[in-house]
Amino acid sequence: MTSSIPETFDAFAFSKQPDFHEPSVRQAFRKAVPLKTLVVYCYDPRATGIPEAVARALGEVHPGEVITGERGNKIASTTTLFEVVVAGGRAVDALRSVTVAQHLFGITNVAVVHHTHCGATSFTADGIIDAYRDEQGADISSLYERESLCISDYIESLKHDTGLLRASPGTPKHVHIYGFVYNIDTGELSLVIDDPGVQQSE
Ligand SMILES: [Zn+2]
Repeated sequence: MTSSIPETFDAFAFSKQPDFHEPSVRQAFRKAVPLKTLVVYCYDPRATGIPEAVARALGEVHPGEVITGERGNKIASTTTLFEVVVAGGRAVDALRSVTVAQHLFGITNVAVVHHTHCGATSFTADGIIDAYRDEQGADISSLYERESLCISDYIESLKHDTGLLRASPGTPKHVHIYGFVYNIDTGELSLVIDDPGVQQSE
């Protein structure tokens, strides 16, 4: 359903409210969702069982329930797990989401999940770069690092992605990073990388 476009959407932006106070809004967000874990996985429709499998493995609440406020608007959720759904479940596309999730809610875990028979294993870095040159007349050879373009080896892709997350200043040092392979036929989750991070003293 569509409706006519209002002159402005400011009414829906926290930062446009007359009494906007950034630290208070941030505190309210932290209370609104008890987030603990981000799951990075592929947009392949066969991979939709991944967040549930990770929730079971890590003891998370997902999808949880949306909480409605007194005025009937949706104000919070009981979930402890958010999904970051990107091609191949590659970490390169999730770095900013990790940073924002930490800022708004605080996070404890990031799970990167690559799945069996993934489309990202069906082409090579050279293959996609060449195809773009020939079909789109576009040079993407330096647009992304080659290691993040496709998956040629599941262990290597998980090592790369968990390493990329660990090296990012946007990933807090205390965050536990997991790398899993998910079997789309059996639903089985195999832990490949287990990087507990560094616990900071209070
Ligand atoms: Zn995939």
